[in-house]
Parts: sequence; C-alpha cells; structure tokens
Amino acid sequence: MTNPLLDTTGLPAFASIRPEHVTPALDVLLADARTALERVVGHEVPADYDAMSAVLDVATERLGRAWGAVNHLNHVADTPELRAAYNANLPRVTEFYTALGADERLYAKYKALAASAAAAALTPARRRALDNALRDFVLSGAELEGDAKTRFAQIVERCAELRQRFSEHVLDATDRFALYVDPARLDGVPADDVDAARAVAAKDGRDGQAKLTLHMPSYLPVMQYATDRALREALYRAYVTRASELGDAELDNSAIMKELLQLRHEEARLLEHDTYAHLSLVPKMADSPEQVLGFLRDLARRARPYAERDLAELREFAARELGLADLQPWDLAFASERLKQARYAFSDQEVKQYFTEPRVLDGLFRIVETLFEVAIRPDEAPVWHPSVRFYRVERDGELVAQFYLDPYARNGKRPGAWMDDVRGRWARPDREPGAVVQTPVAHLVCNFAPPVGDRPALLTHDDVTTLFHEFGHGLHHMLTRVEDLGVAGISGVEWDAVELPSQFMENFCWEWDVLRRLTAHVDTGEPLPRALFDKMIAAKNFQSGLQTLRQVEFALFDMRVHHESDAAERLQAIIDDVRDEVAVVPRVPFNRFQHTFSHIFAGGYSAGYYSYKWAEVLSADAWSAFEENGVFDAETGRRYRREILEAGGSRRAIDSFKAFRGREPVIDALLRHQGMG
Ligand SMILES: [Zn+2]
Repeated sequence: MTNPLLDTTGLPAFASIRPEHVTPALDVLLADARTALERVVGHEVPADYDAMSAVLDVATERLGRAWGAVNHLNHVADTPELRAAYNANLPRVTEFYTALGADERLYAKYKALAASAAAAALTPARRRALDNALRDFVLSGAELEGDAKTRFAQIVERCAELRQRFSEHVLDATDRFALYVDPARLDGVPADDVDAARAVAAKDGRDGQAKLTLHMPSYLPVMQYATDRALREALYRAYVTRASELGDAELDNSAIMKELLQLRHEEARLLEHDTYAHLSLVPKMADSPEQVLGFLRDLARRARPYAERDLAELREFAARELGLADLQPWDLAFASERLKQARYAFSDQEVKQYFTEPRVLDGLFRIVETLFEVAIRPDEAPVWHPSVRFYRVERDGELVAQFYLDPYARNGKRPGAWMDDVRGRWARPDREPGAVVQTPVAHLVCNFAPPVGDRPALLTHDDVTTLFHEFGHGLHHMLTRVEDLGVAGISGVEWDAVELPSQFMENFCWEWDVLRRLTAHVDTGEPLPRALFDKMIAAKNFQSGLQTLRQVEFALFDMRVHHESDAAERLQAIIDDVRDEVAVVPRVPFNRFQHTFSHIFAGGYSAGYYSYKWAEVLSADAWSAFEENGVFDAETGRRYRREILEAGGSRRAIDSFKAFRGREPVIDALLRHQGMG
C-alpha cells in the first residue's frame, strides 16, 4: 500500500488522500525531518549554503508540503475523520517547528555559514534568506543566556496565557449580555433580523419577545436601523463597556492589558531594544516607531478636513431629516445608514446581474495575460471537489506556475477567501543535473454562491474585488523569479508590505474601462450602466474621512502604548489623548474600546495595526503609476512585474517599491482614490 502523502514528486494527490493516511505519513516525515536536523548540525555537513539546504530544506519542504495538503483539505473538505486526524497531528507538527526555531546548534551553524569566506559570494537573495533565518533565531531568544534566557521563556509563556485570557473575557462578556424587548421596539430593523431575534427569544422560553445580543448579526442591525434611540443607547453602552471595569468584575481585562504591556516591554529590553514597538518593527518594512507615528499623524492631518466635512453633512442631515439635533455615538451608524440610503441607494442584487462568473474570470485572466505577458490555460490535476479547476500559467510556451481555483461555498468548507501555497519556486539542491527549477503552485479559494440551474454563477462586486485581491497574492507567489525557497514569492516579504500586490489588484475593480469589459448582464448581455457605476464609486468613498480617522485612532493608540515605557499605567490617559488629537466624532467618557481591542492584545497586530493603512498607501501609490501611464501600459506592467512580483522577498520591500516607482511612497494617491483630495 502506498501513502499518497509520501509522494511529493509532483502535485498533491488530492483525490486519493484519506484521513487514515495522515498519521502514518507524519510518522515518516517528522522522523525524517528530525534526522535531517540532527545531520545538519553534525560535523559531516559543512557550514555551506547548498550542503545545509540539501539536507534540512529538502526534508522540511517535504514535510511542509504534505502537512500543507492535509491542512488545505481540513479547510475546504472537512469531515469528522479528517478533523480528528488533523487535530491529532497538529501538536506534533507545531512542536517540531518550535524546536527547529529554537535549536541552538542550528543557530550556531547558520552563524558559522554567515561568517565563512564563502558567505561573501552568496547571491543577494541567499544572503537575505540567511539574514532572515539569523534574525528569527535572535528574536526567539537564541542569543540569551542564563537567567535572561529563563526569564524570556517565562515571558513568552505568560504572554500566551494572558492573550488567551483576554480573548476569553471578550467572548464571555459578549456572550453574557442579552436584552429581551417587545418586538415593537425594533421599528426600522429589517424583518429578517426581527424574525431571527424572535426565534432566539422563543428558544429561551420568551415567546413574543425579541432577544438582542452584542454579537454583530444582532447588534449591528439595531445600531444601523432601529428608530428607538434609547434602545440604541442601551446596546451601545453595553457594547463599549465589555470586558472593562464598568462591566462584570471577573471579566475585566484591565489587569491583563497592564501586565501584557509590562511583559512586552521587558521582553524588548531583554532583546536589547528600547521598547516593544522597536522590537515589533524588526521584521517589518517600517524603520522606526517615530516613522510610523509620523506617518499616522500625517494621514490624520490630511484626512481631517474631509472627516469634518463628513461629520458636518451627517449632523445637518440628522437634524433636518431625523430630528436628532445633538448627535450621540449611538446615533452615528443609524444616521449614516439613512444618509447613505438617501444618497446612493442601489442594491447589490441589481449589481450582481452584471457580473457573471465566466465573464469575470475571463476578464481577470485577460488583464493578467496582457499586463504580465503570460498565458493562462486550463490544466489537469487531481482535485478534492468536482467544482475545483486547475490552470497553468505559461510564458513563451514555458511553464511558469500552476494554480487551483476553488470558487464556491459548500458544506465542509471554511468561509472567507484566501491564497495559499502548494509549493514554492525553488532551484532544488537535490535536483538532477540540468533539471528545471521547481515551479510554484498556488491555491485560490473563494466562497461565492454556486450557480443555480443552467445559469452562470453571479458575483457581487465584493466577490469580484475579493477574487482580484486573492489573485494578487497568487501572482506574487507564482510570478516570482527568485530560486531560493525562503525568499521566493511571498516568503520572506515583510509583514506590513505583503498586502501590496493583493490590494493593488483590487484597483482594477474600480476602473470604468475594466468594468465595462468585465460585465455583461446575465439576461440582456448589456455592460454595467455608467450611472450605476458612479453610485458604486460614491458609496465606496462614503465617509472615507471619518473612516480614515477611526483607523488612525486605533493605530496611534496601538503604537503609543507599545512605545511609551510607562504606558501600562496610563492606558486610559493615552486613549483619551489620542482621541483629543485625532477624533472628530462625538464621544462619551465610558467608552472602553481598548478592553476589547483583540488585534493588539490577543492577536498578532501589537505595534502593527498601522500596517492596514501602510499597505494601502503602497498599493495605491503603485497603482497611481498605472494611472499616470495608462492602466494597460506594457512598460509599466513589465516594471511592476520585475521589481515587485518577481523580486518577491529577495530584498527589502522599500527597495522593491523604489525600484518600481523611482521614489519613496507617498500618501497622496490613497487619499485621492478615496475621494480625499
Ligand atoms: Zn490579503
């Protein structure tokens, strides 16, 4: 019996992988990877790039590909048996990679390689891959000794506990709240949402009432549509005090936030950085906390006039049309929704009729083919579901990459959309002499509504934007020319720059000339009408000034609490100060937003929240080069491909950006695209 997970010579055998293959395959692959680690740190393998790569990278890539296939199936074709196999093996895979990342002998070997005479002759890409590897060892404490090392390990463990507790508190505080009201109080709320609220109340034995909670699908419709102002206020108050000292004492996150910030600061000091903000930026594109703070403040200053205009319009509308003379925080979503309806009413349903899946895909492929000088053709490979397609990307008849496209939502498939790699571009050290370089393969996964009957699937404009976004990640992975695994395509790209190619592609979805060709009404074949397009653009930029300031407020708070060494003691003072500096909307003293700011206290965005805006600036500025030279300008397309997509992680993102744009990034294009300036 052969185990398909152990055959990594070609494409994954998705059609024949079974849950019972997982554990036996991992027994072999993990043992091989451990043996490779022991060999590579031993004397028989010299401190030489190719020699080390031929032992360690070959074994870990094989493990990564097999586990990647299992992980992928777990995401798109979940069954109880597969989930059990996945969960049983996840801890041992994690354990292996953790041990690998902390192996002091391996770190010493990489250091010996970096110090060797041969290191001077490494290509820039290999040098970068080596530097990244050394950096990651340092960041996980490899340089520490004695008490410092012990303390570092304690901090890492304690922070993991605190982050987990923080999110549990947010979840519990959200779950614990329920408000039962007479459905008559839900005047204005869409009937579907009222029905849902009545159904959950009935389940609780409260027939005839409606149950409101702080979960988004319940909270949001009330805040957006309920005409009962007192009801909105009550829900708002409960929402913004979750997990704070103003709510349940046992769910108060105050002490956790304080301890987390203290520990992060201590961790940064152990690794010889001034603050946690400095430490966080080491593997990122931004140079220093000062640069990020300056960036955010500049953005706030330039968005402010537009935010003030947005607010003035909203106040005027609320007073005149809604009788709300003194706009309060719990009126903002409600009044905004009404204003938006009054101005730009159009339905997603109407727009959808113009975006048929075959037309959109064909349009997307043509854009990519024209701009990046490739051909995309259907190809054959084993797949996990009959609706999955497989394509090959060629240039001058030569294979460049391949990708799977799994477009539709179905049971057993996780929601959302993503790009994942199956394998990366790599001049394998174990390849036969004269053999071609390993070509990249990508997964593009979406969750569109499947076609009904013999009509093609219809996509919302959001769906189309998502498809282009993920395809942008895919192109970054597939069009790379770098041949070193660790820095080919997306690998090794700084965390705050990785969204550049994906957000870049979204711009096509807002370009009139592109949309005309991308659309054909499902019944009449007519392209999207110009008047409808204009409404879509206006709705996209609705309140962009206010939204920008809101994002800056979060990002500035995040950066300041990780940059000011006494922040743990002054959290409320810092958020108040940030709001004084940035915010224009009405506010109330009991807002404890920070107590549920999971991105930075429980997730991976600590001293990194700015990256949302940062990457938008990069992608908008890159796009503006196409606006200047023509959206389908061949030379601009070639330069973008060469300097951004093909270079991948082989050099600093700022160097790639400058090579493409001829200068540092500037904020102007982003503001202009969002109707500000
Ligand atoms: Zn993305």
